[in-house]
Amino acid sequence: MTAPLIDPFARAITYLRVSVTDRCDFRCVYCMSENMTFLPKKELLTLEELDRMCSTFVRMGVEKLRITGGEPLVRRDIMTFFQSMTRHLESGALKELTLTTNGSQLEKYAQALYDCGVRRVNVSLDTLDDEKFAKVTRWGRLPQVLRGIDAAQKAGLHVKINAVALKGFNEPELFTITEWCASRGIDLTWIEVMPMGDLGNEDRLDQYWSLKDVRKAYEQNYQVTDLTERTGGPARYARLEESGQKIGFITPLSHNFCESCNRVRLTCTGELYMCLGQEDMADLRGPLRDHPDTEQPLEEAIRKAIGLKPKGHDFDYSRQSVDGQMTRHMSHTGG
Ligand code: SAM
Ligand code: SF4
Repeated sequence: MTAPLIDPFARAITYLRVSVTDRCDFRCVYCMSENMTFLPKKELLTLEELDRMCSTFVRMGVEKLRITGGEPLVRRDIMTFFQSMTRHLESGALKELTLTTNGSQLEKYAQALYDCGVRRVNVSLDTLDDEKFAKVTRWGRLPQVLRGIDAAQKAGLHVKINAVALKGFNEPELFTITEWCASRGIDLTWIEVMPMGDLGNEDRLDQYWSLKDVRKAYEQNYQVTDLTERTGGPARYARLEESGQKIGFITPLSHNFCESCNRVRLTCTGELYMCLGQEDMADLRGPLRDHPDTEQPLEEAIRKAIGLKPKGHDFDYSRQSVDGQMTRHMSHTGG
């Protein structure tokens, strides 16, 4: 292993999120427009390139890989990539291989993922109502995702649900979703909607449902205890004493979590984003493709990029304009 990755603010970078495709079989309203133009195939890292890239990060101290997208499980032959990452789990260099998925393909792949050493999956699910589900995902169908969650649990995968908090949309379902998760032993995390993509989308401000309000709603029905657990990301956790359930709150807008940030994000084209809320990125595809026989230029490029990781970001809805708004879509950097 080479020297660990430490950024200028003494944060060790141990967590890499990797977007393996910009494509998706859904068109969630807060994530994509209905008519997306996807990248030409030659722009994407091949599965072999993804392997080289991730293996280099693992050699440099990354212990946790989260595979995301777009929808990671719609990338052709993606299971070969998961299989190839198994060797890093077996060697002990990688502590966790995980993914974030919309669940549509889990019925097909849950067992294979388990067999590759995946133990936890995050499934995005904003509503348990068929019609609302079709509305928010545009192309998705709820029963398919529920079958996927069943298959994942049956295969032994620990499932966590991520739900984007949308005012006036899943607000009335707060307790229904919470109880549904509790009845299945599933942890639940709420995410504040972020100002990604769709510049000038007025609805976005209307949709914003502060997690402070979500928490208040819980407090009216449950005894809520804050947990000290931290993951180095924007999530904070609390326990509902009545059910013992852990609820996560991801609040990139109303909280500053940057001081403990341990992660960077790789896009499917090999751009490394050092911060979700900043445009700064480094191209890693060049050093990778230009040097098929040595990883040294790639390692140097990674080290240089980490040296530029900013202290923090600047999303802010508070002035009722979308400050710090990012022009790239979430499916590009991977959520
Ligand atoms: N397709 C997979 C999925 O939906 O889980 C993985 C990629 S998706 C971009 C990752 C996460 O980002 C999902 O949980 C999704 O709800 C979330 N997301 C997408 N756009 C968002 C936005 N504008 N604000 C907050 N979360 C967003
Ligand atoms: Fe696809 Fe996930 Fe974006 Fe929805 S949130 S459009 S499922 S990438």
